[in-house]
Amino acid sequence: METVDIAIIGGGPAGLTAALYAARARAKTVVFETGLPGGQIVTTDWVENYPGFPEGLSGAELADLMHKQAERFGAEFRTFAQVERVEPVDLDFKLTVEGEDILARVVILATGAVPKKLGVPGEAEFTGRGVSWCATCDGALFRDKTVAIIGGGDAAIEEAIFLTKFASRVHIVHRRDELRATKCIQERCFENEKIELHWSRVVKEVKGENGKVTGIELAATNDDPDEFLPLDGIFIFVGIDATSGLVSDLCDLDERGFVQTDHNGLTSYPGLYAAGDVTDSELKQVVTAAAKGASAAFEALRYLDNRLCSI
Ligand SMILES: Cc1cc2nc3c(=O)[nH]c(=O)nc-3n(C[C@H](O)[C@H](O)[C@H](O)COP(=O)(O)OP(=O)(O)OC[C@H]3O[C@@H](n4cnc5c(N)ncnc54)[C@H](O)[C@@H]3O)c2cc1C
Repeated sequence: METVDIAIIGGGPAGLTAALYAARARAKTVVFETGLPGGQIVTTDWVENYPGFPEGLSGAELADLMHKQAERFGAEFRTFAQVERVEPVDLDFKLTVEGEDILARVVILATGAVPKKLGVPGEAEFTGRGVSWCATCDGALFRDKTVAIIGGGDAAIEEAIFLTKFASRVHIVHRRDELRATKCIQERCFENEKIELHWSRVVKEVKGENGKVTGIELAATNDDPDEFLPLDGIFIFVGIDATSGLVSDLCDLDERGFVQTDHNGLTSYPGLYAAGDVTDSELKQVVTAAAKGASAAFEALRYLDNRLCSI
């Protein structure tokens, strides 16, 4: 069976940074990624809060740079390679990847998170027919159309501003009466004449006809009456779910399913580390995912050294 020192599951910012640190320390490092490297940032148009890029850069460009930097130091990438199972074998782990087994001395879980669904009627039926979770991918399809963004955090408001490049009108539907987004993002949102805010509203149903979205039924969280908002598209940014199923039987998760780690990224299982959005860390951003990836790799390397010394 092929044996590697450090197997990194997930090629988003956390996994890419862990790969950079592990490969630079000359550990045999392999990153397994279901798709192409980059993770969630490839779905965002512009990243302007990652240090070192004063003008900002596209999510895809940042992902590409991180990928190239890790590869330059010898990290190996297996793309379109989904890890299906992680099983402890003595002190090591057996990974099943697309039906093939690989032995890893240490595992760093960097599987990130996926956007939450609303769970309302019509959402599944009209996914890809007007319902989307990616403004960068689908925004251009809504040129001169009317769209709604659901959510009030940074990602929701940034993507609403991005969508004003294409859409003639962008409605923001938020369940509270104030936004959670960072103040400077809020200011840009309030200044944008194409954006209209709908406070204290939740989506009850996505409506459509002939396979296309026609609008959303909104219920008020205050005493206002319900209303129908006619639309061509709806973009959902209401939080994320941890992709932690691979290790849910191995280590401790919090009540929401995020992997619990110490401040170095060690989980409750020896040799199993986790970093980035899959963990219970508070701030879920590129910079924190990268930092936690570095810490997890550093600790994983120390653990490997100690294991070799004690043989
Ligand atoms: C629309 C949007 C806009 C954002 N804008 C910003 C921003 O401007 N600035 C900022 O700092 N942050 C932003 N974020 C947040 C940022 O993208 C995330 O915090 C960051 O990507 C988390 O990195 P990660 O590596 O932990 O996980 P992810 O980016 O989620 O990457 C995890 C990777 O693991 C892979 N994977 C999962 N399971 C498996 C498996 N079993 N086998 C193999 N591979 C697997 C996935 O395919 C994925 O590529 C934004 C997020 C979104 C959705």
